[in-house]
Amino acid sequence: MILVCGPCSAESFEQVYQTAQCIKDLGITYFRAGLWKPRTRPGGFEGVKEQGLTWLSRVKKDFNLKICTEIANPYMAEQCLENGFDAVWIGARTTQNPFLIEDIAQSLDKSNITVMVKNPLNPDIALWLGAIERFEKHGIKNIIAVHRGFSLSINKYRQTPLWRIPLELKRLRNDIPIICDPSHISGKANLVREIAFNAISTGFDGLMIETHINPSAALTDKDQQLNTNQLKQLLQNLPIIDKNKNEDIEELGLLRKQINDIDNSIIEFLSERMAVSRKIAQVKKNKNLQIFQSKRWQEVLESITENAKNNDLETSFVKELYEIIHQESIQQQNIIINKSKD
Ligand code: PEP
Ligand code: MN
Repeated sequence: MILVCGPCSAESFEQVYQTAQCIKDLGITYFRAGLWKPRTRPGGFEGVKEQGLTWLSRVKKDFNLKICTEIANPYMAEQCLENGFDAVWIGARTTQNPFLIEDIAQSLDKSNITVMVKNPLNPDIALWLGAIERFEKHGIKNIIAVHRGFSLSINKYRQTPLWRIPLELKRLRNDIPIICDPSHISGKANLVREIAFNAISTGFDGLMIETHINPSAALTDKDQQLNTNQLKQLLQNLPIIDKNKNEDIEELGLLRKQINDIDNSIIEFLSERMAVSRKIAQVKKNKNLQIFQSKRWQEVLESITENAKNNDLETSFVKELYEIIHQESIQQQNIIINKSKD
């Protein structure tokens, strides 16, 4: 399990040193603290910058902890290399810029530092993969992907988890460990635990959790940082997952067969639904009707959400699913209508 813990930002030598002292025996892999803080708007606390490099070196020396910070340009990368950092992380705002990633990767060329690549703010998996590939191209061997959520604000969290994106990354790059940052996803200390547990149960390889000696006095992200006791509690109670066990349990095999059969039926039903939809397109074409009928779509949505409720399904899930089905249906109808116009 990869554990990256420490404050959002380094604020003073005492704050960094005391936080590290309190968590040094919790089995953490890397101690984190942001030195350069990218803020949405200028004027706020923008980090202690170079001043904090030696604070982290002291933590490494005195507590035998590996250290890491965020880098966003070649200068920061060089500072970390010169000061014996074991790892760096690339923030969400940097991952989305291939020019910068290329420059940073160039300045880390062939070093054996570990690079953690956070997902970009928007759910664009190609940008995330692309950043990882650029570091690989420059000979970086130890790469860790970090899921920190996406800035869509469509639920109770600060960032939307969209679990399907990190799971797709895991499918495509099974060779790279992937950890979850429940602090930036949740935005609130009391929600960190549920996201962390979800991640571990799902099969993530570790966690990055912001931890501060005194969160209420933190200069950045104060609402989401755990105090050192809360971190200890959380780590002690993490679900225990045996990654090598699972495949040859008979009961699981039978249930998976049921799932496969149901999936096949879903595909056949979808195919049948699309065929009917294409017949509808023919009728609309003959009668010069427009494809999208908002009243009809409203009725479909109401009926399926009602049905979902009666069948113990989350209405938001069913609605989202139907939006995708409907979009494909419109697409299919467009093909028919445009073809017959020729
Ligand atoms: C951070 O880890 O403190 C940070 C700024 O992260 P992100 O890039 O995910 O916002
Ligand atoms: Mn933060």
